[in-house]
Amino acid sequence: MNPLQRRGFLSAASFFGIAGVAQAATFGNPDHPAQGMRNAVSPSSKTDPGPKNPALASQFPDFQSPPSTDVDGMPLFWASFNNAHKRIQNGGWAREVTQDDFAISEDISGVNMRLSAGGIREMHWHQQAEWAIMLTGKCRITTLDEQGRPSVDDVEAGDLWYFPPGLPHSLQGLGPDGAEFLLAFDNGKSSEFNTLLVTDWIAHTPPEVLAKNFGVPEEVFKNIPLDNLWIFQGDIPPDLPIDRKNSRVVPGAQKVIYKLSQSQPLSRTRGGKAQIADSRNFPISKTVAAALETIEPGGMREMHWHPNADEWAFVIKGKARVTVFNTGPKAQTANFNPADVWYIKKSLGHYVENTGDDVLQVISVFKSDRFAEVSLSDWLTHVPPEMVRQTLNIDPDVLARFPTGRPDFMPL
Ligand code: MN
Ligand code: MN
Repeated sequence: MNPLQRRGFLSAASFFGIAGVAQAATFGNPDHPAQGMRNAVSPSSKTDPGPKNPALASQFPDFQSPPSTDVDGMPLFWASFNNAHKRIQNGGWAREVTQDDFAISEDISGVNMRLSAGGIREMHWHQQAEWAIMLTGKCRITTLDEQGRPSVDDVEAGDLWYFPPGLPHSLQGLGPDGAEFLLAFDNGKSSEFNTLLVTDWIAHTPPEVLAKNFGVPEEVFKNIPLDNLWIFQGDIPPDLPIDRKNSRVVPGAQKVIYKLSQSQPLSRTRGGKAQIADSRNFPISKTVAAALETIEPGGMREMHWHPNADEWAFVIKGKARVTVFNTGPKAQTANFNPADVWYIKKSLGHYVENTGDDVLQVISVFKSDRFAEVSLSDWLTHVPPEMVRQTLNIDPDVLARFPTGRPDFMPL
Protein backbone atom coordinates (compact mmCIF):
# COMPACT_ATOMS: atom_id res chain seq x y z
CA MET A 1 0.00 0.00 0.00
CA ASN A 2 1.54 3.30 -0.96
CA PRO A 3 1.48 6.18 1.57
CA LEU A 4 -1.22 8.03 -0.31
CA GLN A 5 -3.55 5.04 -0.21
CA ARG A 6 -2.79 4.46 3.46
CA ARG A 7 -3.59 8.07 4.33
CA GLY A 8 -7.01 7.62 2.74
CA PHE A 9 -7.57 4.26 4.36
CA LEU A 10 -6.53 5.36 7.85
CA SER A 11 -8.49 8.58 7.90
CA ALA A 12 -11.62 6.88 6.63
CA ALA A 13 -11.14 4.00 9.05
CA SER A 14 -10.58 6.24 12.05
CA PHE A 15 -13.58 8.37 11.13
CA PHE A 16 -15.80 5.33 11.32
CA GLY A 17 -14.03 3.82 14.30
CA ILE A 18 -13.08 0.53 12.66
CA ALA A 19 -11.61 -1.65 15.41
CA GLY A 20 -8.00 -2.66 15.12
CA VAL A 21 -6.94 -0.02 12.66
CA ALA A 22 -6.84 2.47 15.55
CA GLN A 23 -3.82 0.61 16.91
CA ALA A 24 -1.77 1.07 13.75
CA ALA A 25 1.62 2.57 14.55
CA THR A 26 1.05 5.71 12.55
CA PHE A 27 -2.63 6.11 13.36
CA GLY A 28 -3.85 9.60 12.78
CA ASN A 29 -0.65 10.85 11.26
CA PRO A 30 0.55 9.40 7.99
CA ASP A 31 3.48 11.82 7.78
CA HIS A 32 7.00 10.73 8.61
CA PRO A 33 8.48 10.80 11.11
CA ALA A 34 5.26 10.24 13.06
CA GLN A 35 4.53 12.69 15.87
CA GLY A 36 2.50 12.44 19.04
CA MET A 37 2.48 10.48 22.28
CA ARG A 38 0.87 7.40 20.75
CA ASN A 39 3.71 7.12 18.27
CA ALA A 40 6.44 7.46 20.92
CA VAL A 41 7.45 3.91 21.80
CA SER A 42 10.37 4.27 24.20
CA PRO A 43 9.07 5.12 27.71
CA SER A 44 11.45 8.06 28.27
CA SER A 45 10.21 9.82 25.16
CA LYS A 46 6.85 10.26 26.91
CA THR A 47 8.10 11.74 30.20
CA ASP A 48 9.04 15.30 31.11
CA PRO A 49 11.42 15.29 34.08
CA GLY A 50 12.67 18.88 33.65
CA PRO A 51 11.52 22.10 35.33
CA LYS A 52 7.87 22.96 35.03
CA ASN A 53 5.04 24.98 36.55
CA PRO A 54 2.29 22.39 36.92
CA ALA A 55 -0.47 24.97 37.43
CA LEU A 56 0.32 26.71 34.14
CA ALA A 57 1.18 23.54 32.22
CA SER A 58 -2.12 21.93 33.19
CA GLN A 59 -3.99 24.63 31.28
CA PHE A 60 -2.57 23.29 28.01
CA PRO A 61 -3.19 19.54 27.79
CA ASP A 62 -2.98 19.61 23.99
CA PHE A 63 0.38 21.40 24.07
CA GLN A 64 1.68 18.88 26.62
CA SER A 65 0.45 16.00 24.51
CA PRO A 66 -0.69 17.11 21.05
CA PRO A 67 -2.89 14.85 18.95
CA SER A 68 -0.69 12.82 16.65
CA THR A 69 -2.35 14.57 13.70
CA ASP A 70 -0.66 17.84 14.74
CA VAL A 71 2.46 18.77 12.80
CA ASP A 72 4.71 21.40 14.33
CA GLY A 73 5.89 24.59 12.72
CA MET A 74 2.87 26.89 13.01
CA PRO A 75 2.99 30.19 14.90
CA LEU A 76 1.17 30.22 18.22
CA PHE A 77 -2.48 31.17 17.75
CA TRP A 78 -3.25 31.32 21.48
CA ALA A 79 -3.17 34.46 23.65
CA SER A 80 -4.98 35.57 26.78
CA PHE A 81 -6.15 38.49 28.83
CA ASN A 82 -5.52 36.37 31.96
CA ASN A 83 -1.82 37.21 31.80
CA ALA A 84 -2.19 40.71 30.33
CA HIS A 85 -0.91 43.56 32.50
CA LYS A 86 -3.72 45.68 33.95
CA ARG A 87 -3.61 49.48 34.02
CA ILE A 88 -5.75 50.29 37.07
CA GLN A 89 -6.90 53.81 37.95
CA ASN A 90 -9.59 55.19 40.22
CA GLY A 91 -12.70 54.54 38.13
CA GLY A 92 -11.66 51.35 36.36
CA TRP A 93 -8.99 49.49 34.45
CA ALA A 94 -8.01 48.09 31.09
CA ARG A 95 -5.72 45.41 29.73
CA GLU A 96 -4.99 44.58 26.13
CA VAL A 97 -3.67 42.01 23.67
CA THR A 98 -2.05 43.71 20.69
CA GLN A 99 0.26 42.53 17.93
CA ASP A 100 3.21 43.58 20.13
CA ASP A 101 2.42 40.57 22.34
CA PHE A 102 0.62 38.36 19.83
CA ALA A 103 2.56 38.33 16.59
CA ILE A 104 -0.01 36.81 14.24
CA SER A 105 -2.88 39.18 15.17
CA GLU A 106 -2.34 41.58 12.28
CA ASP A 107 -5.91 42.76 11.76
CA ILE A 108 -7.38 43.01 15.26
CA SER A 109 -6.19 44.10 18.68
CA GLY A 110 -8.31 43.54 21.78
CA VAL A 111 -8.97 45.43 25.00
CA ASN A 112 -10.81 44.27 28.11
CA MET A 113 -12.06 47.22 30.19
CA ARG A 114 -13.82 47.70 33.49
CA LEU A 115 -15.56 50.90 34.56
CA SER A 116 -16.92 51.40 38.08
CA ALA A 117 -20.41 52.83 38.64
CA GLY A 118 -19.82 56.41 37.54
CA GLY A 119 -16.33 55.56 36.22
CA ILE A 120 -15.56 57.45 32.99
CA ARG A 121 -13.36 56.49 30.05
CA GLU A 122 -12.65 60.05 29.05
CA MET A 123 -13.86 61.72 25.85
CA HIS A 124 -11.50 60.58 23.10
CA TRP A 125 -11.13 59.37 19.51
CA HIS A 126 -8.69 57.39 17.41
CA GLN A 127 -7.70 56.50 13.86
CA GLN A 128 -9.07 52.95 14.06
CA ALA A 129 -12.65 51.76 14.21
CA GLU A 130 -13.77 50.48 17.61
CA TRP A 131 -16.09 47.49 18.00
CA ALA A 132 -17.24 46.24 21.42
CA ILE A 133 -19.42 43.74 23.23
CA MET A 134 -20.70 44.28 26.77
CA LEU A 135 -19.78 41.43 29.13
CA THR A 136 -21.41 42.50 32.42
CA GLY A 137 -23.20 45.48 33.95
CA LYS A 138 -24.42 48.62 32.24
CA CYS A 139 -22.64 51.40 30.42
CA ARG A 140 -23.63 54.74 28.88
CA ILE A 141 -21.99 55.67 25.60
CA THR A 142 -21.99 59.03 23.85
CA THR A 143 -20.90 59.85 20.30
CA LEU A 144 -21.06 62.63 17.70
CA ASP A 145 -21.23 61.65 14.03
CA GLU A 146 -19.63 63.47 11.10
CA GLN A 147 -22.86 65.31 10.38
CA GLY A 148 -22.85 66.68 13.94
CA ARG A 149 -25.60 64.37 15.20
CA PRO A 150 -25.09 63.22 18.82
CA SER A 151 -26.10 59.88 20.32
CA VAL A 152 -26.45 58.84 23.95
CA ASP A 153 -27.26 55.16 24.63
CA ASP A 154 -27.22 52.66 27.46
CA VAL A 155 -25.90 49.16 26.79
CA GLU A 156 -25.88 45.93 28.80
CA ALA A 157 -24.50 42.37 28.54
CA GLY A 158 -24.67 41.06 24.97
CA ASP A 159 -25.00 44.50 23.34
CA LEU A 160 -22.50 45.75 20.74
CA TRP A 161 -21.27 49.15 19.73
CA TYR A 162 -19.30 50.25 16.69
CA PHE A 163 -17.54 53.58 16.29
CA PRO A 164 -16.15 54.41 12.83
CA PRO A 165 -12.57 55.78 12.73
CA GLY A 166 -12.32 59.28 14.19
CA LEU A 167 -15.77 59.22 15.83
CA PRO A 168 -15.60 61.11 19.16
CA HIS A 169 -16.93 59.09 22.09
CA SER A 170 -17.08 58.58 25.84
CA LEU A 171 -18.00 55.60 28.02
CA GLN A 172 -19.33 55.62 31.57
CA GLY A 173 -20.20 52.77 33.94
CA LEU A 174 -23.71 52.86 35.41
CA GLY A 175 -25.16 51.57 38.66
CA PRO A 176 -25.24 49.40 40.56
CA ASP A 177 -21.86 47.89 39.69
CA GLY A 178 -20.47 49.61 36.61
CA ALA A 179 -19.59 47.67 33.47
CA GLU A 180 -17.05 45.36 31.89
CA PHE A 181 -16.68 44.98 28.13
CA LEU A 182 -14.44 43.71 25.35
CA LEU A 183 -13.20 46.10 22.66
CA ALA A 184 -11.69 45.22 19.31
CA PHE A 185 -9.82 47.66 17.08
CA ASP A 186 -9.59 46.87 13.36
CA ASN A 187 -5.79 47.06 13.43
CA GLY A 188 -3.54 44.68 15.37
CA LYS A 189 -1.19 47.47 16.40
CA SER A 190 -3.84 49.69 18.03
CA SER A 191 -3.57 50.35 21.75
CA GLU A 192 -6.06 51.64 24.31
CA PHE A 193 -3.13 53.43 25.96
CA ASN A 194 -2.49 55.55 22.89
CA THR A 195 -5.67 57.42 21.94
CA LEU A 196 -6.44 61.07 21.20
CA LEU A 197 -7.67 62.48 24.51
CA VAL A 198 -9.70 65.66 24.91
CA THR A 199 -7.77 66.65 28.06
CA ASP A 200 -4.43 66.27 26.28
CA TRP A 201 -5.52 68.50 23.41
CA ILE A 202 -6.97 71.22 25.61
CA ALA A 203 -3.85 71.19 27.83
CA HIS A 204 -1.58 71.46 24.78
CA THR A 205 -3.34 74.40 23.16
CA PRO A 206 -2.28 77.98 24.12
CA PRO A 207 -4.90 79.59 26.40
CA GLU A 208 -5.31 82.53 24.00
CA VAL A 209 -6.13 80.10 21.21
CA LEU A 210 -8.68 78.33 23.43
CA ALA A 211 -10.22 81.74 24.24
CA LYS A 212 -10.41 82.63 20.54
CA ASN A 213 -11.74 79.18 19.57
CA PHE A 214 -14.59 79.09 22.09
CA GLY A 215 -15.26 82.84 22.26
CA VAL A 216 -14.76 83.06 26.03
CA PRO A 217 -12.05 84.60 28.28
CA GLU A 218 -8.77 82.69 28.86
CA GLU A 219 -9.62 82.41 32.57
CA VAL A 220 -12.32 79.85 31.73
CA PHE A 221 -9.50 77.32 31.22
CA LYS A 222 -7.50 78.01 34.37
CA ASN A 223 -8.71 74.82 36.13
CA ILE A 224 -8.27 72.30 33.32
CA PRO A 225 -6.31 69.13 34.17
CA LEU A 226 -2.71 69.39 32.99
CA ASP A 227 -2.32 65.63 32.79
CA ASN A 228 -4.80 63.47 30.93
CA LEU A 229 -7.42 61.51 32.86
CA TRP A 230 -7.89 58.44 30.60
CA ILE A 231 -10.11 56.65 33.17
CA PHE A 232 -11.39 58.50 36.23
CA GLN A 233 -14.13 58.23 38.84
CA GLY A 234 -17.15 60.41 38.00
CA ASP A 235 -20.66 60.84 39.35
CA ILE A 236 -23.38 58.38 38.38
CA PRO A 237 -25.22 60.08 35.51
CA PRO A 238 -28.94 60.92 35.54
CA ASP A 239 -31.58 58.85 33.73
CA LEU A 240 -31.02 58.41 29.99
CA PRO A 241 -33.77 60.81 28.78
CA ILE A 242 -32.24 63.62 30.84
CA ASP A 243 -28.73 63.03 29.44
CA ARG A 244 -30.20 62.84 25.92
CA LYS A 245 -32.03 66.12 26.37
CA ASN A 246 -28.95 67.78 27.88
CA SER A 247 -26.83 66.51 24.95
CA ARG A 248 -29.30 67.97 22.41
CA VAL A 249 -29.96 64.55 20.90
CA VAL A 250 -32.40 64.63 18.02
CA PRO A 251 -33.65 61.58 16.07
CA GLY A 252 -31.73 60.64 12.95
CA ALA A 253 -28.19 59.73 13.91
CA GLN A 254 -27.06 56.33 12.62
CA LYS A 255 -27.38 53.65 15.30
CA VAL A 256 -24.04 52.81 16.93
CA ILE A 257 -25.44 49.98 19.09
CA TYR A 258 -26.87 46.53 18.30
CA LYS A 259 -28.48 43.98 20.65
CA LEU A 260 -26.61 40.90 19.39
CA SER A 261 -27.59 38.50 22.18
CA GLN A 262 -31.28 39.16 21.48
CA SER A 263 -30.94 38.69 17.71
CA GLN A 264 -32.36 35.78 15.69
CA PRO A 265 -29.72 33.02 15.28
CA LEU A 266 -28.32 32.51 11.78
CA SER A 267 -28.19 28.80 12.53
CA ARG A 268 -29.26 26.56 15.37
CA THR A 269 -28.87 22.81 15.97
CA ARG A 270 -28.73 20.61 19.06
CA GLY A 271 -25.00 21.36 19.09
CA GLY A 272 -25.25 25.13 19.28
CA LYS A 273 -26.20 28.40 17.65
CA ALA A 274 -24.59 31.38 15.94
CA GLN A 275 -25.78 34.99 16.07
CA ILE A 276 -24.25 37.36 13.54
CA ALA A 277 -23.80 41.13 13.44
CA ASP A 278 -22.31 42.68 10.32
CA SER A 279 -23.08 45.55 7.98
CA ARG A 280 -26.17 43.71 6.69
CA ASN A 281 -28.05 43.94 10.01
CA PHE A 282 -25.83 46.49 11.82
CA PRO A 283 -25.20 48.94 8.95
CA ILE A 284 -22.65 51.21 10.67
CA SER A 285 -20.32 48.23 11.33
CA LYS A 286 -18.56 48.46 7.99
CA THR A 287 -15.13 47.11 8.98
CA VAL A 288 -16.04 44.55 11.65
CA ALA A 289 -18.27 41.47 11.40
CA ALA A 290 -18.99 39.47 14.54
CA ALA A 291 -20.33 36.01 15.39
CA LEU A 292 -21.54 35.07 18.87
CA GLU A 293 -21.33 31.29 19.04
CA THR A 294 -22.92 29.22 21.78
CA ILE A 295 -21.82 25.57 21.76
CA GLU A 296 -23.57 23.02 23.97
CA PRO A 297 -21.66 20.49 26.11
CA GLY A 298 -20.41 17.75 23.80
CA GLY A 299 -21.10 19.97 20.78
CA MET A 300 -18.71 21.06 18.09
CA ARG A 301 -18.42 23.96 15.68
CA GLU A 302 -17.93 22.06 12.43
CA MET A 303 -14.76 22.03 10.29
CA HIS A 304 -14.81 25.28 8.29
CA TRP A 305 -12.88 28.35 7.20
CA HIS A 306 -13.50 32.02 6.56
CA PRO A 307 -12.63 33.08 3.00
CA ASN A 308 -12.71 36.83 3.59
CA ALA A 309 -10.97 37.61 6.89
CA ASP A 310 -8.85 36.45 9.82
CA GLU A 311 -10.80 35.33 12.91
CA TRP A 312 -10.04 36.92 16.30
CA ALA A 313 -12.03 35.16 19.02
CA PHE A 314 -12.54 35.67 22.75
CA VAL A 315 -13.90 32.98 25.07
CA ILE A 316 -16.70 34.44 27.19
CA LYS A 317 -17.39 31.22 29.09
CA GLY A 318 -16.60 27.52 28.99
CA LYS A 319 -13.69 25.46 27.70
CA ALA A 320 -12.64 24.93 24.09
CA ARG A 321 -10.24 22.90 22.03
CA VAL A 322 -9.35 24.26 18.60
CA THR A 323 -7.16 22.89 15.82
CA VAL A 324 -5.92 25.02 12.92
CA PHE A 325 -4.83 23.43 9.65
CA ASN A 326 -2.44 25.01 7.14
CA THR A 327 -0.45 23.98 4.10
CA GLY A 328 2.71 21.99 4.68
CA PRO A 329 0.76 20.18 6.01
CA LYS A 330 0.81 21.78 9.44
CA ALA A 331 -1.71 21.53 12.26
CA GLN A 332 -1.77 22.93 15.79
CA THR A 333 -4.20 22.17 18.60
CA ALA A 334 -4.67 24.48 21.58
CA ASN A 335 -6.90 24.75 24.65
CA PHE A 336 -8.89 27.79 25.68
CA ASN A 337 -10.52 29.03 28.87
CA PRO A 338 -12.52 32.19 29.66
CA ALA A 339 -10.74 35.42 28.62
CA ASP A 340 -8.38 33.50 26.30
CA VAL A 341 -8.06 34.56 22.66
CA TRP A 342 -7.43 32.75 19.39
CA TYR A 343 -6.41 34.12 16.03
CA ILE A 344 -6.85 32.15 12.82
CA LYS A 345 -5.61 33.46 9.49
CA LYS A 346 -7.98 33.84 6.59
CA SER A 347 -8.98 30.55 4.90
CA LEU A 348 -7.09 28.25 7.30
CA GLY A 349 -9.26 25.25 8.25
CA HIS A 350 -10.40 24.94 11.87
CA TYR A 351 -13.01 23.56 14.22
CA VAL A 352 -13.99 24.24 17.84
CA GLU A 353 -14.94 21.55 20.37
CA ASN A 354 -16.66 22.26 23.64
CA THR A 355 -14.44 20.27 26.03
CA GLY A 356 -16.15 21.41 29.23
CA ASP A 357 -19.22 20.32 31.16
CA ASP A 358 -21.01 23.63 30.60
CA VAL A 359 -22.00 25.79 27.65
CA LEU A 360 -19.12 27.31 25.66
CA GLN A 361 -19.64 30.87 24.44
CA VAL A 362 -17.23 32.58 22.07
CA ILE A 363 -17.37 35.96 20.34
CA SER A 364 -15.49 36.00 17.02
CA VAL A 365 -14.52 39.21 15.26
CA PHE A 366 -13.52 39.62 11.60
CA LYS A 367 -12.12 42.70 9.86
CA SER A 368 -14.75 42.70 7.14
CA ASP A 369 -18.12 44.18 6.25
CA ARG A 370 -19.67 40.71 6.35
CA PHE A 371 -19.43 37.33 8.04
CA ALA A 372 -18.52 34.54 5.60
CA GLU A 373 -17.61 30.88 5.97
CA VAL A 374 -17.11 27.70 3.96
CA SER A 375 -18.17 24.41 5.52
CA LEU A 376 -16.27 21.19 4.78
CA SER A 377 -19.37 19.01 4.98
CA ASP A 378 -21.24 21.45 2.73
CA TRP A 379 -18.48 21.05 0.16
CA LEU A 380 -18.15 17.25 0.39
CA THR A 381 -21.90 16.85 -0.09
CA HIS A 382 -22.04 19.18 -3.07
CA VAL A 383 -19.58 17.52 -5.44
CA PRO A 384 -20.21 14.32 -7.40
CA PRO A 385 -20.05 11.50 -4.80
CA GLU A 386 -17.67 9.68 -7.13
CA MET A 387 -15.23 12.58 -6.65
CA VAL A 388 -15.27 11.98 -2.90
CA ARG A 389 -15.02 8.22 -3.30
CA GLN A 390 -11.98 8.50 -5.55
CA THR A 391 -10.37 11.13 -3.30
CA LEU A 392 -11.08 9.87 0.24
CA ASN A 393 -12.17 6.26 -0.29
CA ILE A 394 -15.50 7.04 1.31
CA ASP A 395 -18.36 5.09 -0.17
CA PRO A 396 -21.22 7.17 -1.66
CA ASP A 397 -23.70 5.28 0.59
CA VAL A 398 -21.78 6.47 3.63
CA LEU A 399 -21.29 9.97 2.23
CA ALA A 400 -25.09 10.17 1.98
CA ARG A 401 -25.16 10.14 5.80
CA PHE A 402 -22.99 13.29 6.04
CA PRO A 403 -24.91 16.45 6.93
CA THR A 404 -25.84 18.26 3.74
CA GLY A 405 -25.66 22.03 3.68
CA ARG A 406 -23.88 23.93 6.41
CA PRO A 407 -24.73 22.55 9.83
CA ASP A 408 -22.41 24.97 11.68
CA PHE A 409 -22.87 22.96 14.88
CA MET A 410 -22.88 19.21 15.46
CA PRO A 411 -24.76 17.20 16.50
CA LEU A 412 -27.67 18.24 14.32
MN1 MN B 1 -12.24 54.39 22.02
MN1 MN C 1 -14.34 30.11 12.57
